[in-house]
Amino acid sequence: MIHRRNYEKISLREKDIVYYLQRTGKSSTKSTRKALTSDLKVQIDRMEKIAHKLFEPKGIFKIYRAAELPIRECFAEAASIALAIVTIGSSLPFEANRLMNSGNYVDGVILDAFGSAAVEQVADQVNNEINEMVIHQNLEYSKRYSPGYCQWGVQDQKVIFRKLPGEEIGVTLSDGFMMNPIKSVSFAINIGKNIKKSRWELRCKSCEDRGQCTYRMY
Ligand code: SF4
Repeated sequence: MIHRRNYEKISLREKDIVYYLQRTGKSSTKSTRKALTSDLKVQIDRMEKIAHKLFEPKGIFKIYRAAELPIRECFAEAASIALAIVTIGSSLPFEANRLMNSGNYVDGVILDAFGSAAVEQVADQVNNEINEMVIHQNLEYSKRYSPGYCQWGVQDQKVIFRKLPGEEIGVTLSDGFMMNPIKSVSFAINIGKNIKKSRWELRCKSCEDRGQCTYRMY
């Protein structure tokens, strides 16, 4: 059964917005950084009101038996795998781009950071619902992971979009495996009896990229 969700509420913390502002390359010029730090709280408060009017948070997900998916290292130890797509829609990225292109660069960057924080929160909401379903079945779940990370090829976005009708929540996949709207996230969660101790779940331990990886789990 495919589950579809429309969310009413997104509540974000100021520190989440600051985190995404610091991560974005778009705010890395010295002058922009200075502008953000000098008047940050006032600007964030102002853009928050705009951001909340633009959020269109939606999600779609389904749990598949491993045999229904192609053979991959990431699925190998799972009995079943939840696949999910979430989005905050196209209105916020459209407005963020419009602001940046019209010279209102700082407002655009802040709005973009609201979008990044919001889509992760929608992913958290879907993730939590999947976890509850798994707990109810007395099984274990992995942390969520996405195509393009941890040696799971980005081209496997196709696996997720072949299974889930992303267009029902307004998300499509380009030939280059980019999602549109850009503030969308696709992910998988492994489900089974010993998932917490599976090689895939413990992959950070032996990963060559762990030194510079901001997604490292431990
Ligand atoms: S450190 Fe962990 S999260 Fe980061 S790339 Fe390696 S396996 Fe993936």
